[in-house]
Amino acid sequence: MKFKIVSKGDERSNRIKATMKQYLIEFDLEYDRKEPDLVISVGGDGTLLEAFHRYVHRLDSTAFIGVHTGHLGFYADWVPDEVEKLIIEIAKTPFQVVEYPLLEVTIRSKTGGTEDRFLALNEATIKTADGSVVFDVEIKGEHFETFRGDGLCISTPSGSTAYNKALGGGIIHPSLDAIQLTEMASINNRVFRTIGSPLILPKHHTALLKPMVDRSFLIAIDHFTTNYVNVKSIQCRVAEERIRFARFRPFPFWNRVRDSFVAEEDD
Ligand code: NAD
Repeated sequence: MKFKIVSKGDERSNRIKATMKQYLIEFDLEYDRKEPDLVISVGGDGTLLEAFHRYVHRLDSTAFIGVHTGHLGFYADWVPDEVEKLIIEIAKTPFQVVEYPLLEVTIRSKTGGTEDRFLALNEATIKTADGSVVFDVEIKGEHFETFRGDGLCISTPSGSTAYNKALGGGIIHPSLDAIQLTEMASINNRVFRTIGSPLILPKHHTALLKPMVDRSFLIAIDHFTTNYVNVKSIQCRVAEERIRFARFRPFPFWNRVRDSFVAEEDD
């Protein structure tokens, strides 16, 4: 089996990376940056997001696993004290795979008919540095509302515990092929009206956001933000592609949610 380790880059993560790499090579696994079967992220959720985007072009043949060296590790199942155990588990392969849905975002430009397509593991957010965003929101080809406010967040089920949660969105189990639209400070009064509640869309129900005012938009795909001008539309839907996580032991989603947000930390 071919593997690659992506480290957060701090001293502790680099040390764990070096140890894992050395032992896994001794177990006859091959270190392959280009075509790994398994990508091990050592760091925090940001490191796993980074690893996901680095190998987003080969999701059907790469599985991911996280070791967390920071505070909260939602995507990272293993802690540094368990690294030896994990090395042995990996060396023993094959591993189980669980698949989670992803968000597909297509940004179409008014000029030249160009489009950019992205996959997000957590979410896409659309904001502006220039006042409010004003979008016509279409769902499944029908006008739903005109949104005015700070912005919109469109998240995956596994991203529903990230930015979406801070916006009052619901937590969705990743066995559901869905995306969630949450508002950021919508303007609601006698003139402007939005639904106000998070919307959960199933697979094949596309949300299309059409800017009504010519602005530049700050569009973030997970941890990476780009400034877009001349945006004709932003299309969001459940992607055909899925992320594959390598599981060497069960860690049910609701336990992960409880451990991250409800359970008190041991001293
Ligand atoms: P960061 O360093 O600002 O970390 C943000 C926090 O989000 C970290 O504590 C991280 O552990 C946590 N996180 C990331 N994915 C998560 C998930 N799926 N479930 C639960 N917690 C999760 O930025 P980063 O590490 O580069 O991560 C980028 C992510 O930060 C974005 O995808 C977005 O979801 C999140 N974010 C959250 C807010 C907010 O909650 N108000 C604001 C901006 C970005």
